[in-house]
Amino acid sequence: MEKMVALPDGTLVPAIGQGTWLLGEQRGKREKEAEALKAGIDAGMTLIDTAEMYGNGKSEELIGEAISGYDRSGLFLVSKVYPHNAGRKHIFKSCIETMKRLNTDYLDLYLLHWRGSIPLEETVECMEQLKKEGKILGWGVSNFDTHDMEELWRVPGGKQCAVNQVLYHLASRGIEYDLLPWMRQHKVPVMAYCPLAQAGDLKQGLYENQVLSAIGAAHGCSISQVLLAFAIRNGDIIAIPRTGKKEHAMDNAKAGELELTEKEFSELDRAFPAPGKKVYLDIV
Ligand code: NDP
Repeated sequence: MEKMVALPDGTLVPAIGQGTWLLGEQRGKREKEAEALKAGIDAGMTLIDTAEMYGNGKSEELIGEAISGYDRSGLFLVSKVYPHNAGRKHIFKSCIETMKRLNTDYLDLYLLHWRGSIPLEETVECMEQLKKEGKILGWGVSNFDTHDMEELWRVPGGKQCAVNQVLYHLASRGIEYDLLPWMRQHKVPVMAYCPLAQAGDLKQGLYENQVLSAIGAAHGCSISQVLLAFAIRNGDIIAIPRTGKKEHAMDNAKAGELELTEKEFSELDRAFPAPGKKVYLDIV
């Protein structure tokens, strides 16, 4: 895993990190899931994405356990605050509780999970306050479409946003029409969630697709690896696949070494074309 993505402040993070939705929720699976996270870290996927929402904090707790033997400075922890907690009244407590569960005294990035009714001005002000207090090193947003980003850019301090985490995979390329170009123009990376289309659950037939299979076979790699190589191809998208299995974690990390040819990218483009018109943000 060598590919890195630069955040607006110059911090380099691995292009492939680890998602954790649904991890930590089932007692019987926790040990294996922690092993998978550790194998992922050892293989270079040191960026870990979570949220206070995931299993009501159980995912953050699992990560806290899994990272206990690691040097904190070598990790990049991202968590997300619920929209209804993203204001003056609750965010400071939410952030502290997240840090406690993660067993850390700072977050590398804190994201607004999606837009709610609390004004963006207030959320940004709170995020900046958390930054001043050293509780977070940076902040970002999630599930923001182009008009949301434009609005954020008009808010005082809004341009401090470090990342926008949105759904993106080979079979859901809507962001390529206007959101991704906007993000590129403003030099803010996209963090792609569901980069594996939830192992095909979000797109029937994806894992059986002939073009993907042929490319995988040509490189001796899995469909998941081809999907990840596609997601991170331009150097400004961070993909955060989730797995509860050690072998899949190692597989995902190795996708960082996969180099597809221009011809293969063209074949993928033909099989899964990007839309030629505005498509509203895909969400799960
Ligand atoms: P993914 O696209 O990452 O797919 C996860 C599925 O893929 C699991 O079923 C996993 O199963 C399987 N998988 C993982 N690696 C492999 C592999 N190498 N080979 C075969 N199967 C594999 O879906 P997610 O929805 O989890 O999205 C990723 C992350 O993005 C989340 O975990 C979360 O952190 C974030 N997210 C953020 C959202 C937001 O609103 N901001 C919304 C949704 C997700 P197995 O365990 O068997 O490997």
